[in-house]
Amino acid sequence: MASGAAQTLTAERIARALEQGDVVVHYQPCYDLRTGEIVAVEALARLFDRDSGELVEPAGFLEPLEESGLVVHLDEMVLAAAATQVAQWRRLPAGERLCLAVNLSPADLDDPMLPQRFREMTEAAGLPLDAVIVELTETLLSRTGQGHEQVLAELAALGCNVTLDDFGTGNASFDYLRRFRVDGVKIDRSFVQFLGSGGPHERMAESLVRFCLSLGVHVVAEGIERPQHVTALRRLGCPFGQGFLMSRPLDAVALGTLLREDRLPPGLAHPVDRADLPALTRVPGTTEPSVLERLVPRVLAGLVSLVLVLVAAIVVTGRADTDASLTSAAENRLEAIDSLAARGVDLRLGGLADAVTTFSRSGAVRRAVVSGDPDQMDLALAALGSATTNAYNTSLYDASGTMLDLAPPQRDPQVVGQNFSFREWYRPASRRDTAYVSQAYQLMTPDHTWAIAVAAAVRDPGGRIRGYVVATLALSGIQAEMEAIFRQYGVAVTVVDRHGTTLADSGGQVGVMTKDPRLLRGRAADATGDGDRLWAVSEVSAIGGWLLVEQDRDAAVGTVDGGTDPLLAGLVVGIGFVLVLLWLATDARRRRLKADLRRSNAWLASILGATPTPVLVSDTEGRVHQANVAAAELLGVPVHTLRGQTVGSWLTTRDQPATDGGAFSATVVTRSGDVRLVEVQVRDLTGPNGEPMRLHALVDVTPHREEQDRLRAQSRVDPLTGVANRIALQEALAAASAPGRSPHALVMLDLDRFKSVNDDLGHAAGDSVLCAVADVLTDAVQPDDTVARVGGDEFVLVVRLDERTSHTVVAERLRSRVQEVLDAHPFALHVPVGVSVGSAAVGPDGRDADELLRLADVRMYDAKRRRR
Ligand code: C2E
Ligand code: MG
Ligand code: MG
Repeated sequence: MASGAAQTLTAERIARALEQGDVVVHYQPCYDLRTGEIVAVEALARLFDRDSGELVEPAGFLEPLEESGLVVHLDEMVLAAAATQVAQWRRLPAGERLCLAVNLSPADLDDPMLPQRFREMTEAAGLPLDAVIVELTETLLSRTGQGHEQVLAELAALGCNVTLDDFGTGNASFDYLRRFRVDGVKIDRSFVQFLGSGGPHERMAESLVRFCLSLGVHVVAEGIERPQHVTALRRLGCPFGQGFLMSRPLDAVALGTLLREDRLPPGLAHPVDRADLPALTRVPGTTEPSVLERLVPRVLAGLVSLVLVLVAAIVVTGRADTDASLTSAAENRLEAIDSLAARGVDLRLGGLADAVTTFSRSGAVRRAVVSGDPDQMDLALAALGSATTNAYNTSLYDASGTMLDLAPPQRDPQVVGQNFSFREWYRPASRRDTAYVSQAYQLMTPDHTWAIAVAAAVRDPGGRIRGYVVATLALSGIQAEMEAIFRQYGVAVTVVDRHGTTLADSGGQVGVMTKDPRLLRGRAADATGDGDRLWAVSEVSAIGGWLLVEQDRDAAVGTVDGGTDPLLAGLVVGIGFVLVLLWLATDARRRRLKADLRRSNAWLASILGATPTPVLVSDTEGRVHQANVAAAELLGVPVHTLRGQTVGSWLTTRDQPATDGGAFSATVVTRSGDVRLVEVQVRDLTGPNGEPMRLHALVDVTPHREEQDRLRAQSRVDPLTGVANRIALQEALAAASAPGRSPHALVMLDLDRFKSVNDDLGHAAGDSVLCAVADVLTDAVQPDDTVARVGGDEFVLVVRLDERTSHTVVAERLRSRVQEVLDAHPFALHVPVGVSVGSAAVGPDGRDADELLRLADVRMYDAKRRRR
């Protein structure tokens, strides 16, 4: 069904729709602006137009219906449907106290049986009458005819709430407030729209809201469309509101869903998240931390410890793993250095050995050795020298080991021509086909350089040994290589021959026997560790010896990347443990403090709970942090809904809110709509975290004030006529004769022949005459003047004089006004009543009240006598 707001129906189509029962009721929720709860729904009629298939809103049919009087049927159908519906919703948890607002038309009030019908229909629907709000517009009231006031009074007597709708839109609004007894006003949306606008009309709209609040009736703001409307209304203390911001009018199904959801409507979210507010009190029975509260931190601490232990274990095993892998990486590195150096040595010596072997087989060398001819030997050695640039020197020996020649030709007499004493160095060469690399020996050279020699036997074609060729290699080259490796890699490198003698060593220890057991065991190549040291061993094939590389274990491992510093890891784990311990310690302290706070809160809660005085505890901005049960009962809402609201949204005051120790009067509109008068006593407190807080004790003075008003009225007002009595007159007279006051007249009036009215026509007639006189006198003077009835038919007035008028003139004017009324009174025909006056000037001659009264009395009786 489409909604056709703009559609206007013809009278005929309207009548048809009514006849066919095509009335649909929509409901617009009315909210408590403080709690966000739905307090009422307004039933709004729509007609279903079968021709267009659309739902038509009141603007499209209401006027013709009102003119034809058919609106009575519409309103009856709306009330019947809505009352049944709302009675059902009141069975929902969120609808328990839901009220129904219905709109009435003038024609409805024409029917004196309306209250009766209201009662029957709501009873049939199961809806109590005090849940019904009757909305009347100003237009309706302006057209009220005979009996309308009576109908309204009866509706009110049944318990209905009579509300003035669209308040403020007509000129007569204030007048109606005076004439009719209303329970509520709905401020028209044409005012609400200015709230929070900052525009020139905002002040006017605010004043209207304040005025309505001051009437002590329910105040509902209509047409709330923007969040700033809500903010302003809350600030002003307007309790109820309705408008598109919260919800448009909805069909019954949608409104039912809204009630069931029981959610805060858009725009009415609480000003603060209540969860953010620290609670001063807690729910009884949970003063000790729950098992969960106690266990959670412990379990967490346990988990963190476990994680730290795992981290530590991982670090430790990681460290072991890393250690092993680092050691192996270091060993690999040493092995690589070792084989690299060994290859270098092999190359150097191998080349020399090959050259020497080849050379020993040459005929020229053989001939030179056999001949002993120095020239031939020179030639032979020169040929060898050109073949092996590596050689430091070369020499020839005969088969017995006597050196025949040496090249380069530094003829060293100690060497050439002598038997070489260490003959065994070349002997192995005799048994081998290839060159033989000897043990190192010190060659007697000028610089005493250590050298190694390569020897090969020189054989004749029959294979007999004729002599030996020996090439020596300065070890300084290899030694420099070992030292370079040491500088580059930081490792010690040693070349040893097959007997274990050191031939070259990066540390300079040459010629010594190495004690390395593995070398002695003859292991070819190995890389392993021995306690603090790591080493690698490679065979140097050219000399049948080994090359040894070794390094301190930690230094070797430290040169390899990728390890975790165990110290750092230990530090991290240590700090972690310390943190856990600290956490556990502070958590225990925190829990102790929390428990203390809970206990003191519970203590405060029990005091607040036990006190019958309603109490709201707020922060300095007036946001409620805590309320007790008595406050919730007074305001008619659950305790929890008060938290986060402002105190000002519940208390309307024209006084300045008090400071610490002070008090102010305020009006409270309760959730159920009662208007209570409270005296608010204010005390400043310190909150749980040291923050300043404010305690508001609300003393409900409504009964007291009502009783006081009643007693005061009884003691000062004449019950029959409603004018002042003798006590009030005395007060007024005393005030008027006080020094410095402007001149006043005391006027005394007495009715002549009044007794005859009572005697002849009865006391009711007498009473009506007295009331008529009181009315005319009240109308004839200023509001500040006093009219009192002091005896049966005796009236006394205290009237302020202007400069030009004397008391006698005033007295005469009053007399003639009263006489006019008496003459026009319906009973005047039967018993003509007259009036006599006497007067006196108040003030100038300093007479006291009694004297003045006596004087006026005398003058009045004089006048009476004269009239007779
Ligand atoms: P109302 O009683 O003052 O009802 C409020 C009207 O204002 C509704 O219009 C509603 O839809 C509208 N309204 C509510 N909130 C907002 C808002 O935030 N912004 C704006 N712009 N409008 C808002 P609707 O339903 O068209 O009713 C118009 C009038 O027709 C009612 O004014 C009421 O006087 C009358 N009416 C409605 N239903 C009935 C009924 O069953 N019987 C009688 N006699 N009169 C009815
Ligand atoms: Mg209305
Ligand atoms: Mg309205």
